[in-house]
Amino acid sequence: MRFDVLTLFPEMVENYFQYSILKRAVEGGIVTVNTINPRDYTENKHKKVDDIPYGGGAGMVLMPQPYVDAYTAIKKQENSTTIMLSPQGEPLTDKIVNELAEYEQIIMLCGHYEGFDERIRNIIKPREISIGDFVLTGGELPALCLIDSVSRKIEGTLGRIESADEDSFSNGLIEYPQYTRPRDFRGYKVPEVLLNGNHKDIKEYRYQQSLERTKIKRPDLYEKYKKDHPEI
Ligand code: SAM
Repeated sequence: MRFDVLTLFPEMVENYFQYSILKRAVEGGIVTVNTINPRDYTENKHKKVDDIPYGGGAGMVLMPQPYVDAYTAIKKQENSTTIMLSPQGEPLTDKIVNELAEYEQIIMLCGHYEGFDERIRNIIKPREISIGDFVLTGGELPALCLIDSVSRKIEGTLGRIESADEDSFSNGLIEYPQYTRPRDFRGYKVPEVLLNGNHKDIKEYRYQQSLERTKIKRPDLYEKYKKDHPEI
């Protein structure tokens, strides 16, 4: 899987891959992360990438030329998709993450300041994705959220691919509670069922806990799950 990230701040993106699981994934050749700076494609003397908005208003708007030319210069693979990180996009979900994990290349456009000149959308026609109904200063963190979540779904990134299968949302529910040593921490004990080695009981206990937690913490997901699983 190859991620090409158009960003005015390449180091913000690159630094994230210096640590932990994703560092190993990059070193192991499972994912490749490449940054492209639209500033390197400017045609003006001062390498300007933004300008004041027509019609007035606060902030600076990203100019179309550097973004469109930087995008055009990227070598597109056959199985490739382009995403614009934007608070106006469809909210990122586990379902979309699974869909994106099927591509060989994901090209991402990170905005900044007041965002993109509309003609960048008109020309590139990206899929717009948001990481939530709030506004950040730039698209770098959202791009990293997307790369991180998609990379976890690629075989070889996690130690055991099953670990992603059991996470929250993978079956429409949120995950059951997890415990590790010690058995008794200041009087708070690990539930007995997890200690008896009976895998059938453990599975049933975890399923019931997932159901219960989802009902309390995410009633929206619970109602949807109930519709699809009327037997519960
Ligand atoms: N003026 C824009 C609007 O109201 O839709 C917001 C621009 S925002 C300050 C600058 C950039 O940050 C956006 O172009 C986008 O790339 C990124 N961004 C901010 N919030 C985001 C979110 N919730 N999801 C994805 N990207 C976001």
